[in-house]
Amino acid sequence: MKASILHLLLCLTLVGCNTKNEQSLETVSESASKSIIDLSHSYSDKTVYWVTAKEFKLDTVFKGQTEKGYYYAANNFSTAEHGGTHIDAPIHFAKNAQTVDEIPLEKLIGNAIKIDITQKSSNNPDYLVNIEDFTNWEKTHGHTIPDKSIVLIETGFSKYYPDKVKYLGTDERGDHAVKLLHFPGLSPEAATWLVENRNINAIGIDTPSIDYGQSEYFQSHVILLKQNIPAFENLTNLDKLPSNEFEIIALPMKIEGGSGAPLRIVALVSE
Ligand SMILES: [Zn+2]
Repeated sequence: MKASILHLLLCLTLVGCNTKNEQSLETVSESASKSIIDLSHSYSDKTVYWVTAKEFKLDTVFKGQTEKGYYYAANNFSTAEHGGTHIDAPIHFAKNAQTVDEIPLEKLIGNAIKIDITQKSSNNPDYLVNIEDFTNWEKTHGHTIPDKSIVLIETGFSKYYPDKVKYLGTDERGDHAVKLLHFPGLSPEAATWLVENRNINAIGIDTPSIDYGQSEYFQSHVILLKQNIPAFENLTNLDKLPSNEFEIIALPMKIEGGSGAPLRIVALVSE
C-alpha cells in the first residue's frame, strides 16, 4: 500500500504516468478514484496554541511592486512547535527518543483507521477514550486494528475550532489557564492497551492534545511517545473520513532536533 501512495504522489505531480506498463495504468485508475482530504488547520493569528505557548506570528517583509517592475511578496513567521495542526515527536515526552526529523517516514505515511467517539464526547468535554472504544471498532470490523495502522480519534471538537472557549475550555492564557482546559483525550489505560496489545505506527486526534484537557501528568503522551509512536494534534475534517481503509500522508516541517512541528496531513479516501 505504501508503494501505491508513493505512486499516487508521483502521478499527482508528473504527467505521463499513464504510459509504459499496465501496472501504472491500473494504479492511475485506482488513484483517480481517490479523493484527498485536508486534515490540517491553516496557520494564522487565530490558530489555537497551548495556553502557555508562543502563538503564530506573520510579519510582512515586502509586498508589492518593486522598483525593478516585478511583483514581490515575502514574510517571516514565528511559531511554537506545538500549536495548530502539529506533530508531537517522541522526544516531546521521552528522553533520548526520536526528534521530529528522525521519525521514519514509514510511520507517517500509510494505512489508517478512525475511531468515532463524537456521540460520547458531545455532552462531555472531559471524555476519555477507553479500551472499549477500540474493541468496539474491532467488533464492528471483524478484525483487530491492523498492524502499522495510523489511528485517528474523532471527537467532533474540531467543529469548535478556533473558538477557544468551546475548543479548549478557556480563552485565558498563561500557567493558571492549564487548569481550565476541557476537551476529550485518550485514557492512559487505553494508551497502555494500544502499546501492549496492538502495533500502531502513529496516533492522531481532533483536539489540542492526546491527553484530555484535565490531565495533570500527560500519561498517554508518555506511554505512546516512549514507544516512538508520534501523535498528531488539532486535526480537522475527520468527519469526512470512513472508519477503515484509507491512507494518511503526514509530513511535518523537518526541524532538526525538534520536539514537534507544524504538520500538513492529508487523507486519501476511495470514492
Ligand atoms: Zn504537541
